[in-house]
Amino acid sequence: MLFEQLGLIEPILKAIKKEGYTQPTPIQVQSIPIVLTGKDLLGCAQTGTGKTAAFAIPILQQLYNTRSGVQGGYKHIRALVLTPTRELATQIDESFEAYGRFTGLKHDVIFGGVPQHRQTIALRNGTDVLIATPGRLLDLMNQGYIYLDHLEIFVLDEADRMLDMGFINDIKKVVRELPQQRQTLFFSATMPPNIAKLANSLLYKPEKVEITPVSTTAERVEQCVFFVKKKDKQQLLDHILQDKSIKRTIVFTQTKHGADRIAKNLRKRNINADALHGDKSQASRQNTLANFKNGRLRVLVATDIAARGIDVEALEHVINYDLPNVSETYVHRIGRTGRAGATGYALSFCATEERPFLNSINKLTKQKIPSVRHPFEESALIEANNADPDAPKAEPRRPKPRNRNRYGRKDRVDKRDQKIDF
Ligand code: AMP
Repeated sequence: MLFEQLGLIEPILKAIKKEGYTQPTPIQVQSIPIVLTGKDLLGCAQTGTGKTAAFAIPILQQLYNTRSGVQGGYKHIRALVLTPTRELATQIDESFEAYGRFTGLKHDVIFGGVPQHRQTIALRNGTDVLIATPGRLLDLMNQGYIYLDHLEIFVLDEADRMLDMGFINDIKKVVRELPQQRQTLFFSATMPPNIAKLANSLLYKPEKVEITPVSTTAERVEQCVFFVKKKDKQQLLDHILQDKSIKRTIVFTQTKHGADRIAKNLRKRNINADALHGDKSQASRQNTLANFKNGRLRVLVATDIAARGIDVEALEHVINYDLPNVSETYVHRIGRTGRAGATGYALSFCATEERPFLNSINKLTKQKIPSVRHPFEESALIEANNADPDAPKAEPRRPKPRNRNRYGRKDRVDKRDQKIDF
């Protein structure tokens, strides 16, 4: 399938070519024609599937085809994309810039944590597409800077995360201000019952697009779990990071304080690390992210909220320093790696008290994440065995057989695997 076969207009095809895309991804093949017909869409797709272009491209085309021709002056907001985090909002805005560069359509992004002045000036000049996080959007609506009564297309992106982050009431408030007659596009990587209920209340006879089965763990991501005592996690992390083949990794933690502490400890060991979480200023978050993306930073220690939707090319490793207590979050986290056909490894640390989280993850993803031997395991294993008879049995440590890779599996052996013995 080629983009030309999707009925796209020349300015958009030209922009896609400039981006270097040769073929649409499966979610794009399925979604673009539906969105172009004006129907509502319920999309279930994992991150990294090309979801943003799947909605941005047909939105731009629809707005372009029905534009008034008025240049400048007051314009109504015609499309709104609501997304949970500032980082995602920025990335979506960049996508609208990339795909819409030859359409003459305007787009703006607003999010909290920065002064509103620049955003309100931009809004005064009019915009066709607004990308927003819920808090700042409501704030500016309440102040009379934003009216959505002429909105034509509404996108709710990463809906499951929106709910996890407690945005349900904000979403409801925004939806109350939208015209009844509109097109709604709803995207979520996972579809637990509360998300399906929200989708039902927002969508009218939606077409459904599902790229991978609900909550299937990202394909191509090799996963393993390290049973470890909470107090030994930092040492285990240090040990794992001795493996120089881990060029870049995101380490997920549950708390902002934890992220700061781990990053500080890594820096003490001369590992280039920085923390990313919601208490950091927007400037500092963008700076950290840029350093991580351009390779100056080896380890990004992040909370879920901050890391949501981050798209880093060639990210091979994700480490769950803490297991998430919401199983769907695990799917999102490991979705940071293994993108666009790349290899991915997800390493999770599991302390005794996190065993219930691991059990729910295994249940949700319909798999049993294999456990790995490592130098700090025994005491944790004994505890885990007391807590769960299914836990792997603690055995005396023995040297790793030569034909086993770093995850203790026989099937994949490469040179790097022989460098470190977990
Ligand atoms: P997303 O799922 O929207 O976060 O997209 C993941 C990555 O895939 C982004 O870096 C996009 O630039 C890239 N991408 C989106 N569509 C295509 C395509 N058709 N061909 C190649 N790369 C793409």
